Amino acid sequence: MKTFDVINPATSAVLDRAPDQSVAEAKAALEKSVAAFGMWKAKTPFERSAVLRKWYELIVKDEDTLAKMMTGEMGKPITESRGEVKYAAAFVEWYAEEAKRAYGEIIPTHANNKRMFATRQPVGPVYAVTPWNFPAAMVTRKVAPALAAGCTVVLKPAEQSPLTAIRLVELWVNAGGPPDVFQVITTMDPAAVSAVFFDDARVRKLTFTGSTEVGIKLYQLAAKTMKRVSLELGGHAPFIVCEDADIPAAVQQVMLSKFRNAGQTCVCANRIYVHEKIQSPFAEAMADSVKKLRVGDPMSDQTQVGPLVDQQGLDKVASHVDDALGKGATAMVGGRKKEGLFFEPTLLTGVSAGMRILEEETFGPVAPIVGFTDEAAIIRAANNTPYGLAAYVWTRDLGRAFRIAEQLEYGIVGVNDGTPAVPHAPFGGVKFSGIGREGGPWGMEEYLDVRYISVGLP
Ligand code: NAD
Repeated sequence: MKTFDVINPATSAVLDRAPDQSVAEAKAALEKSVAAFGMWKAKTPFERSAVLRKWYELIVKDEDTLAKMMTGEMGKPITESRGEVKYAAAFVEWYAEEAKRAYGEIIPTHANNKRMFATRQPVGPVYAVTPWNFPAAMVTRKVAPALAAGCTVVLKPAEQSPLTAIRLVELWVNAGGPPDVFQVITTMDPAAVSAVFFDDARVRKLTFTGSTEVGIKLYQLAAKTMKRVSLELGGHAPFIVCEDADIPAAVQQVMLSKFRNAGQTCVCANRIYVHEKIQSPFAEAMADSVKKLRVGDPMSDQTQVGPLVDQQGLDKVASHVDDALGKGATAMVGGRKKEGLFFEPTLLTGVSAGMRILEEETFGPVAPIVGFTDEAAIIRAANNTPYGLAAYVWTRDLGRAFRIAEQLEYGIVGVNDGTPAVPHAPFGGVKFSGIGREGGPWGMEEYLDVRYISVGLP
């Protein structure tokens, strides 16, 4: 069997090897997925729910193994990996329950001799492609609702994080899940393997989480066979701190938003807009917190910031910082590469329009602060991006909170909340951040087609 190396970004050493599956293997997986669909769809929602429930329990029990695997393959601190396992499991638990609630509607009739219903049916076999930054949660957030709805799934995880995905599929099978209903295919050649699914009209849905650049390509490929799509893409979150904000609370939450996963999340604050009246105390309090961050071995319980995932990721972070410093920003804290794939947690001030960090996803532990005075202007600046995933606003004025939240062109707005994502709420973006929602009943609708049944009475 062909394999590829899985690299531990904390040490740059080979952690393990994963199967490098071929186009022929992808075709075989597709055939099994198509063949299993009829059987899985025919199960009652209660039967599907029972398997999902068992899968949830096994994931929870496997927390330690999964967490170490995740930290090993992509470098997030172990305490965060444990948190991610709980978050990932919570999607499975929630959709185990939701499987039983895929209700339809009775439509008021226009004719006494007709009765009309809208029912739900599973979309069909699904092809799922996921990123490395949440190796467990990005899988369950897609796969749990798809399986609950009655779809079969072939999952292609990112090259950097195949091990967690393989383990999740093993646990599915251990839970009594039919192996052909949920399969994983790992490869170093995602384009060739994915083509098998894009070219086959029997695959009815593409669900993708990853960069906007790749998302646009896959959207076009999926159009050839008219697949339904869910696209969870990149973000560039503004974090607006108004003059009346609770500064300690805002600092505490921006730290979580920005430095979690070493800044490698799609919803992390990428532009911190702080009202000039409070900019100094805010920046000083944040600098204190950034200096205290413990960078190091992600397997240690003490570590808060681990390495970047790979050299490309590190180079991008360094280039954003160099660009900002070259154009007049100041590094209040950090600003340089450390050994290996580590980058110093960094706080930049004096950041202004025209710097790359305000336009592109940085995906690293770098927080740029930009001052503002005018509310209308800052809303315009916050919206002046192709992205529209998450935005945050901090204020104690309820009127201002609604005024700003309602004008932000984003799928998710946290008002005095730096961590709004939960399994039972809708997660997703507008504009170049994607199409569709994951989580809650919205996430299940993505895997259900509406079937209208009109019954003529004698
Ligand atoms: P990526 O787009 O490089 O890769 C994502 C996946 O696409 C991987 O599995 C990769 O193998 C696959 N892929 C790449 N090229 C392909 C091709 N030509 N054909 C088929 N598959 C292909 O993204 P990444 O670096 O893994 O993840 C980081 C990105 O994901 C960031 O932009 C981040 O914002 C985004 N993201 C978004 C969300 C969200 O919910 N909106 C969540 C997590 C990450």
